[in-house]
Order: sequence, then structure tokens, then C-alpha cells
Amino acid sequence: MIIVMNSTATEGQIADIVERLSRDGVRVQRLDAERVALAATGARPDDALEAMPGVAAVLPDAGATPMVATPQRDHAGRTDPGDMARTDGAGSGHGDRESTAGFQVGEHRIGGGTFFCAAGPCSVEDPDTMHRIAGAVAAAGAVALRAGAYKPRSSPYSFQGMGEDGLAVAHAAAEAHGLLLVSEVLDATQIPIAARYVDILQVGARNMFNTTLLRELGRTHRPVLLKRGLAATIDEWLSAAEYIVSAGNPRVILCERGIRTFETATRNTLDLGALPVVRQRSHLPVLVDPSHAAGKRAYVRSMSRAAVAAGADGLLIEVHVDPDAATSDAAQTITPHALGRILQDARAIRNALDALDNGGR
Ligand code: PEP
Ligand code: MN
Repeated sequence: MIIVMNSTATEGQIADIVERLSRDGVRVQRLDAERVALAATGARPDDALEAMPGVAAVLPDAGATPMVATPQRDHAGRTDPGDMARTDGAGSGHGDRESTAGFQVGEHRIGGGTFFCAAGPCSVEDPDTMHRIAGAVAAAGAVALRAGAYKPRSSPYSFQGMGEDGLAVAHAAAEAHGLLLVSEVLDATQIPIAARYVDILQVGARNMFNTTLLRELGRTHRPVLLKRGLAATIDEWLSAAEYIVSAGNPRVILCERGIRTFETATRNTLDLGALPVVRQRSHLPVLVDPSHAAGKRAYVRSMSRAAVAAGADGLLIEVHVDPDAATSDAAQTITPHALGRILQDARAIRNALDALDNGGR
């Protein structure tokens, strides 16, 4: 059993709970997080424990993810561990696109019914190319520029990214065109550097299980875009988000980017089935990255359409003014013109979904 304390719980309140459980012979372990959690081995949740001052939630097992699921709150403001999923219509069968409250990043809202799009090259390139890409994706309707300065390449001999110089180049290009900047960090030492340039810190698929990095990102004030791991279950993905949120950073954006299966015709298998599951279990906004899922530019448009229809809060797409010349992931990179068509599709599909939802069907 896990007892999650309120962020305002005092040391005295924590000590009272430890003492009460220890009296019953239960072994209590304090878990190291910004929000204190107590693991009580061999104990079962009971009403009296839940009612103790400072307690936010009592969960039957360690796999629970209370911080990424909008909890029901009772009149005392405590969470109800019996139903951590939203009950205000989320997961009730229709579009489910308004089931996230969303949050603000600069002037933009992410989730909460607003459609988000981050687009740009896989890796940061030279300043002129970055400016041209940023201008073109902004004109196509993107609100954020994506570009990796620290690249998690499968081979140590592949281009590893431009590092801090790349962040500065990408920042200048994004700022010149009124775009937010999304960029990946590979380890905790890169967080303070990236935070100087980047609006949204990305955790790549290969790093989703890096709990040290997740905890450190929980201590920053920058929103985090958390890609699903190549072989991560939805539970593991939500637990990774829980690491960030429980360490103090509530602004996490989930991103489905395809998982590894036996299929080789596409780079990964886009798991759109994850969307309604995540919708039901979490209030966090969820994006889809069709580029890394498909691996080939010919499939990006249809995967984008399907993602929007499945209720994605937005898309993350690799775009370049000269896709074949892209430094990395050229095969899956599309033109700004193709991005414009995808974003037109997205508007039409969302309007159609609204009409269906409002038509009482
Ligand atoms: C990326 O977005 O550039 C990237 C490396 O993606 P992923 O971590 O999903 O492979
Ligand atoms: Mn890429």
C-alpha cells in the first residue's frame, strides 16, 4: 500500500502516520520524492488512515499513478483513492477531446480542447535553414518549432547534434517567428543549459525509463514532453509521467510515437489504441508523433488524420524545407506544404467530431 501525502503535509503529520502504522507492526518506508509517499508493506487501506491529516491518497499498490490522473476530490479537498479516473465524461465513449484541463505554455494552451502542433527538423541545422523552416512551419499553422540539439542516435558514429550552439540557433529561429521551442535533453546535466533556450523539454523514447532524468525534470519549471518508450506499456509510460509530476512539475505532455513490434514495413507501430486508454486514465494532454512511428513520409498524413480522429491534443511532426537534405530522419521528413495540408485536415476532422458530439449521436 502507498500513502501519498499532500504537498503541504508537515513532518509531524508524516510522523503520526508512520507511528500509527508501526504500532500495528507494519514496515513503513519513506519514498524519496518532493511529495512524500510512504510504502507500507503488508497493510491495507482503511478509512481512518485516509482521514488522517496530511494524507492525499491511499493506494492499494505501487503501480498506481495518482498524480497523473485527475483525482476526484471530496469536500475536504482530499483525493478519493477509490476512483482516480475522471468521471466528468472522460472515457464515456465520444470524442473525449475536452477531458484534459490543459495548461498554459507562454501564450499557448496545450490540451483542454486546443490543438497543438510542433513541427521542424529532426536535428537543429544551420541558422539560415532553421530560420526558413521556422518561418514555413509558422505559416503552415504550427505553434512550436521542434529541433533536436542533443540527439539520441542509435549509432555512436551518427551525427550527435549541435549541442548548446544548436539550442541557441533553434531559439533564435523560433523567437523570430513567434514559435515555442521543443527540444530534447538526454541527461540531467543538460537541463539547466537547455532551460535557457527551450520552452518545452523533450524526453525521448530511449530515455523514458531514465528515472534519474525524470525526477530532475520534475524539479524544473519547464513543461516536459514525454515520449512513450519503444517497448513501454501504457502503465510504464504513465508511471514515467508520475515520476515527473510527483517530483513537483505538473506540466507533462504525453507523446505517442509508435512502439516496436514484429512489423518492419513501418519504422514503428503507431499505437492509437493508447489514446482512449490514456484519456480515461489521465488528465494529461497527449500528442501523436506520426513521423517516428511511420518512418516514411508517405504515411505521415494518414497517420496524422487517424491521430486527430482518435482524439490527440496535437501533433509533433518532422518538417524541413528540403526534406531529402535533412541531416537526420530525412526519409520521414515532410515539406511545410504537406504540413499545411495536414493541419487543414486536422481542423476539418475536429469540426466533424464536434458536429458528431453535438449532434446527440
Ligand atoms: C525525436 O523526436 O527527434 C526523437 C529522437 O524521437 P524518439 O525519441 O521518439 O525516437
Ligand atoms: Mn527524428
